[in-house]
Amino acid sequence: MSLKATLIPVTPFQQNCSLLWCDETMKGALVDPGGDIDKLMEACKENGVELEKILVTHGHIDHAGGVAELSELKNLPIEGPHEDDKFWIDGLTEQGQQFGIGPARPFTPTRWLTGGDQVTLGKLTLNVLHCPGHTPGHVVFYEPDSGLACVGDVLFKGSIGRTDFPKGDHATLITSITQMLWPLGDEVAFIPGHGPMSTFGEERRSNPFVGDSALK
Ligand SMILES: [Zn+2]
Ligand SMILES: [Zn+2]
Repeated sequence: MSLKATLIPVTPFQQNCSLLWCDETMKGALVDPGGDIDKLMEACKENGVELEKILVTHGHIDHAGGVAELSELKNLPIEGPHEDDKFWIDGLTEQGQQFGIGPARPFTPTRWLTGGDQVTLGKLTLNVLHCPGHTPGHVVFYEPDSGLACVGDVLFKGSIGRTDFPKGDHATLITSITQMLWPLGDEVAFIPGHGPMSTFGEERRSNPFVGDSALK
C-alpha cells in the first residue's frame, strides 16, 4: 500500500488543497479545504477516493474556510490544527469578510493535534509536527514511507511563510523549519500551501531564507 496525492488549488489565493489517499483502501483525506467544495468533491470522484476525514494545517481562511461546510456536508471528522490556532479559526467569518471569501464559518476540530501525534488514513499513518511561526498552531503532516510532507504555509519553493500576522514570529518559523523539517531528510518532497512542490534538500541548497548558506 502507498500514499497517493493530488493537488487542487482553491480560493482566490490558489491554495494547494491536497487530496491524500491510501491506494489499498482508497480511503482519503482533504488537507486544507479552504473553499471551492464542488471542485474538491469532483477530485474525489475522479480518483475514486472515499473521504474519511479532513486535516487542517492552520487556521487561515484560504486553508480552513471550507472546513465547516465540508465537514457538515459529508459528516467528516476534523483533525488539526494545534489548539494555539483557535483564535484564527474563531475569526474565520471576519477573515472571509476581509478577503471577500466565504461565507466561512468557525468550527471545532474533532481532535486538536500536537507534535508527536499520529493521524491515520486508510492503512497509512501520518506523523504530526508542530511548526509554529507563520501561525502559533501550525502543524505539518508527514508520511515517512513515501517521504511526503504537507507543510502548509511554513515553507515554499524558494520562500517561507509570512510572519507579520498576530502571533507570527520569524525566528520561531526559522527554528521550525531547520529543527523540525530538515531532520526528516533532504529527499523528502513537500506540498506547500501555495506554488509548486519541492524537496527539503533543494531548499537547503537554494532557498534564500532558510538555505544552508543563507543561515551561515
Ligand atoms: Zn497561512
Ligand atoms: Zn495560505
